[in-house]
Amino acid sequence: MTSPARTSPPTAGATARPPRPSGRPNGQWKVDGTTPLNHNEAFKQESDPLAVRERIESVYALQGFDSIPDDDLHGRFRWWGLYTQRRPGIDGGRTATLEPHELEDRYFMLRVRIDGGALTTEQLRTVAGISEDFARGTADLTDRQNVQLHWVEVESVPEIWRRLEAVGLSTTEACGDVPRVILGSPVAGIARDELVDPTPVIEEIQRRFVGDPSLANLPRKFKSAITGHPSQDVVHEINDVAFVGVEHPTLGAGYDLWVGGGLSTAPRLAERLGVFVAPEQAPDVWHGVVRVFRDYGYRRLRNKARLKFLLADWGAERFRQVLEREYLGHPLPDGPAAPVPDQPGDHVGVHAQKDGLRYVGVSPVVGRVSGPQLRQVADLVEAHGSGRVRLTPHQKLVVLDVPPERVDPLVEALEGIGLTARPGPFRRRAIACTGIEYCKLAIVETKATASRAITTLEERLGDLAHLTPLSLHVNGCPNSCARIQTADIGLKGQIVQDDDGDQVPGFQVHLGGGLASQDRDEAGLGRTVRGLKVTADGLADYVERVVRRYDADRAEGE
Ligand code: SF4
Repeated sequence: MTSPARTSPPTAGATARPPRPSGRPNGQWKVDGTTPLNHNEAFKQESDPLAVRERIESVYALQGFDSIPDDDLHGRFRWWGLYTQRRPGIDGGRTATLEPHELEDRYFMLRVRIDGGALTTEQLRTVAGISEDFARGTADLTDRQNVQLHWVEVESVPEIWRRLEAVGLSTTEACGDVPRVILGSPVAGIARDELVDPTPVIEEIQRRFVGDPSLANLPRKFKSAITGHPSQDVVHEINDVAFVGVEHPTLGAGYDLWVGGGLSTAPRLAERLGVFVAPEQAPDVWHGVVRVFRDYGYRRLRNKARLKFLLADWGAERFRQVLEREYLGHPLPDGPAAPVPDQPGDHVGVHAQKDGLRYVGVSPVVGRVSGPQLRQVADLVEAHGSGRVRLTPHQKLVVLDVPPERVDPLVEALEGIGLTARPGPFRRRAIACTGIEYCKLAIVETKATASRAITTLEERLGDLAHLTPLSLHVNGCPNSCARIQTADIGLKGQIVQDDDGDQVPGFQVHLGGGLASQDRDEAGLGRTVRGLKVTADGLADYVERVVRRYDADRAEGE
């Protein structure tokens, strides 16, 4: 599938699609008024969700889990990065049949927000300490550059916040109907071939708008991404708003603006608005886009509330007009599309920085690390002359600022703690969501399943090392947190029938997706292969068959 927006920016003067005939209201504030149309909308209006923090600190942390009312526990807690986790021992076949409270444990998943994925070793050590002291040593690097911890008790949350905020981190708006963490190029400010450094834009958005009560009641989550690197390393096509570095022929380096991407229900790639955004304008343009969503986004049905549904109805030209006229008060110049990248954007391996130092990208297995391991990373990074790391949207970790003579010892030392700069092709490209271990919506296990499959495949397929690495994205349910539709092989967790007729954990298979930053000429969402299902135990066998058949049939040079 091609991305029409990449080659066909909106034509000046074309007629915008007229608004849909009004039948039932969609809950758009600017159109239908602000009457809540469902329970989520009601609790968001009833009380500022961010205000739940005061109750956590002064009531729930003192009185315990049972003191938390439902709308706070299952609603407003998310605004501070807190979800209840799945009770252990409930198999995936029962996910759809049990009530939510029967599925949930008295412990929380806590998401630490890390805008741009940027961490100092001091911050990394703080996260490690919180993991060790309050989260049973758990830590996962997510595909949105966050760190997720598990087994957190509400009693610990105020102390966790105190420690995080002492080093400039937070959980503010890490979940909920808010501007979520801003994905940023993991090599912002250091890459030799960077067009524009997005760091000032990320920092300004964070400073001005994260925790802003006027943006804390959006129709749904709002995902942002920004990069100035030519590898387009922030999966921009699947974000609600994205700024992609581009060189304008007369205005210099700035950003190409994309809006309306998202997976899960009705997956859709973002579209270019065809404008050029100067770096100093980017925070205000971001603010304009998020307010268009707040005011015009659909609120009646939660599964139709992401920005992509508004964009699908309006079209890019009308969106641009509303943004410019109602929110910015001035037109934006037309701008060129950024060229399709010719390098992978995962930053794995050793690379030169513009200042002569090196950066080293290493791969855990599908993002699974631990508190003690993160502490070891901080120690090793400092011992080899650096003080900064970045997380990536591919569940990887990049160490910045390594003196050239310290690279080899660092690579060996990281290898020794399970983080490799030379991952095999499957480990390099695989990601997996949280899955049944902790997620209440999950149907199947993901992290261990993916890990086993990677090990098996790399043992069996060593003779095919000449092939381009293959992306394997393992999801525990249809929600696509690990981007089912953008992988070579995307796996959607469900219960399937095995050869003996038994109902067992497995996956629906989705083939042929990919993003511009993954060696693709064009981004595309691939397709679900009707009826093609694989058991979790048969996953490695299935992938091996696909790869061997592809190798046998591929054209020369493909
Ligand atoms: Fe949970 Fe499903 Fe998301 Fe995986 S894809 S983390 S199982 S909701």
